[in-house]
Order: sequence, then C-alpha cells, then structure tokens
Amino acid sequence: MNAKVSIVKCKDYQPDLVFAAVKKAIDLIGGISSFIKPQSKVLVKPNLLLAKGPEFGIDAHPEVVRVVIKVLKEINCKLLLGDGSNVWGNQIEDVNDVYEQSGMKRIAEEEGVELVEFNKRRWRGQFPLTSWLDECDYLVSVPKFKTHDFTILTGGVKNLFGLVPGTYKIELHKRYASPEEFARILVDIYAQARPALTVIDGIVAMEGDGPATGGRLRNTGLVFAGVDCVALDSILALIMGLLPQDILTTKEAAKRGLGVSDINAIQVYGEELGQVMGAPFKLPATSIKRNIPRPIVEIAKKLIRFYPKIDYHNCIFCQACVAACPTKAISVKSGRVVIDYKKCISCFCCQEACPASAIKVRKSVMAKLIGL
Ligand code: SF4
Ligand code: SF4
Repeated sequence: MNAKVSIVKCKDYQPDLVFAAVKKAIDLIGGISSFIKPQSKVLVKPNLLLAKGPEFGIDAHPEVVRVVIKVLKEINCKLLLGDGSNVWGNQIEDVNDVYEQSGMKRIAEEEGVELVEFNKRRWRGQFPLTSWLDECDYLVSVPKFKTHDFTILTGGVKNLFGLVPGTYKIELHKRYASPEEFARILVDIYAQARPALTVIDGIVAMEGDGPATGGRLRNTGLVFAGVDCVALDSILALIMGLLPQDILTTKEAAKRGLGVSDINAIQVYGEELGQVMGAPFKLPATSIKRNIPRPIVEIAKKLIRFYPKIDYHNCIFCQACVAACPTKAISVKSGRVVIDYKKCISCFCCQEACPASAIKVRKSVMAKLIGL
C-alpha cells in the first residue's frame, strides 16, 4: 500500500510559486509517470462547491488545478476537467456559473482542456457516479483543505462526493442521515473511485464553520500530494489539531483496509510534519470538542444536537437553502425562510448552499451544558 505523502510550502497563489510547489509535491512522491501512464485519458476533479471567485477560498484554486493539468500534459495525457459541483446539481446554481466564477472555465480554455458536466451516470451499488469515470483511464483529485460542519474535514475522501451526479447527492444525505452512516457511504464512494493521484490545495485553507461562506480563511501555505487519501486526510487531521480517527471517513476507510491512518506508517516527504503544525484549527461549531471526556460525550450523545439557525440579519432571501434541504424542512412563510425542526436531520446542506453566511449553528441545551 502506498502511503507516501508530500508536504510543500507555498506562500500564496502566484503562478510561478504554485507551479514550483505542486510540481515538487508530485516529484517527491515519485513523479507523475509513477502514477499515470503517458497518453492516458484522465478526469481531473477539483473541489468545486459554489459559484464564487478564488478569493473566497471555497473552491480549489484555479492555479493549483492549472499546474496539475500542465504536469499531466507533459506526459501527453488527454484531459477532462469537471466536478458535480455543489450538493444540489444545477437546482440552485448552474454548473457553468460555478465553472466560470471559480476560474475553471478560464483554465480549461487557456490549457486546451475539455470542461465536462456530470450529467450521465452509472450505478455502483447504492449510488450512481459520473459515467466519465468509465471513459477515463484515471481520476486525479484536487481537493481544498477545509473544515466541514457535517464531516469535520473536507479533504481527499470527501472530495469524491462530487462524483455523484446532480441531485442524487441530496438523496444520499437523506438516506444516510447520521454522520456515521454518511461517512460509510463516502468511503463506499472512495472504494469505487480511488484517484490515481490527489493534490490538495492547502495554500489558503478554511477553518470554523466550513466548507462554504460560514468558514474562516486560514493561510496555511501548504500543498499536499499522495495516492492514499486516507493517509492524506490523516496528515490534514493532525495539522488541524485532531487525531486521524477523529475524522469518521478516515476511521472507516482505515478499518476497511482502504488506506493508512497510522502516522508511523506514513512516509512524509518535503516539510517535516512537526514544522508545519501551527495552532489547532478552529473546528466547526457542530464538532464535539475533544477536551470533553469521552464517557460524558457517550452518555450525553443522544441529547447533544446541533441545528441550523437562520441569521435574518445576513439573509438575502435567495432561497438556496430551500432547494438544498433534503427533507424539505425549509420553506417560505410571510416573506422569509423558516425551518421546521421536526423535519430537520442536521445535515447542514442548507449552510453549504447559503451564499450569505446566514445559517448559523443552534445547540441543544445539553450541548450548551457540557460546554460545546
Ligand atoms: S434544515 Fe438544513 S440541516 Fe436541517 S435537514 Fe434541511 S438542509 Fe439539513
Ligand atoms: S438563509 Fe442563506 S440560503 Fe437561505 S435564503 Fe437566506 S441567504 Fe439564501
């Protein structure tokens, strides 16, 4: 099992710096030809969530994606670029707007790469994945290093959720409503679609109530590369100030033997891990803080709940949350959006969809009592 991870510093998104950093990150773990055969057909899948510019730090940065494309072009690969973008398919935002605003359309034009939509699918057991996977020899993933209100981390494994086309993502949120069930389905997806290479944009990361407008940007100045997404996510967890097994997808994938989460079994190239670990990340308000003794958390678990709360001061009444909610818990009443908490499964899809940072976290009495 390949558990090499490279960590390379890159202070900002100046194209020459990004080029050097991404190239070095790939070379440190063996170079592109050790993962991808020359002249192959490759699907490059960046993490795209909302139609926002790169300065918002929500989508993978176009310069990082550009270098991945350039490196693949050096070995004469035929490239497709695309993502299922947000959870809701084209219901809220047209994917072409996402491509345009995120800079992917420009990169595709400048680099002569075909930009594709994930509108055809093939079923793989419990879920469909984009049929572009069947037409390509390899998948290369470009996640963004971010916190996530439901999964704590958006990294290597979570980025692959975007391979589920369109609104079926909502169905999966509804069907696998608890964090544990949802982690299992994310790992099922990883088992079906393991990228040949993953390059993570952690130059500007996100902490707090990520992965969208509720998060806070954090200059981490790092690029990561590896084949094993479990190992990559384990490194990200440590940098966040967590343990690998605090991330449910990492715990589940390691348990199934899909990757390495034991830090002693991961070979780190480039920067030393200890040298790049700063202060712990501010975690999403929904994460159960690690300083609460585990027995207390276990006893109180059923009473610890987190719910979305509309901040009407920020709300621009776009109704994106109404379309995003898998259980139809949000509706419009008297000219504003309201949440029916009896229907809410606390998936926080509404927060991901909100373009105005208008969905905050409401805590149950027990969560407040034990200091979460
Ligand atoms: S209201 Fe928000 S958190 Fe609750 S079910 Fe709907 S999308 Fe999920
Ligand atoms: S809460 Fe956010 S997504 Fe919902 S209507 Fe208001 S601004 Fe739009």
